[in-house]
Amino acid sequence: MSEYCSQCSPFKDEQDWDIDLAKMALRLDNGRSESFICEGCNNRGIYKDEVGKIYLAKQKTNTIELVEVKFEDLIN
Ligand SMILES: [Zn+2]
Repeated sequence: MSEYCSQCSPFKDEQDWDIDLAKMALRLDNGRSESFICEGCNNRGIYKDEVGKIYLAKQKTNTIELVEVKFEDLIN
């Protein structure tokens, strides 16, 4: 079964999200990260820095790039 994150899930109901990015962001402590594989987009992980800013780790051709995101952007 394919797993989709809340940014690209075809479902609008959060009950159906396999990877709930907002929920993950809330439970991460500052300075910690969590990785996952989304089959619908290039999101590969989520990271919260020491001051609580949230970043998504995105798969690029040969690298992983951290992109700062707002909490509201984690929900589709
Ligand atoms: Zn996704």
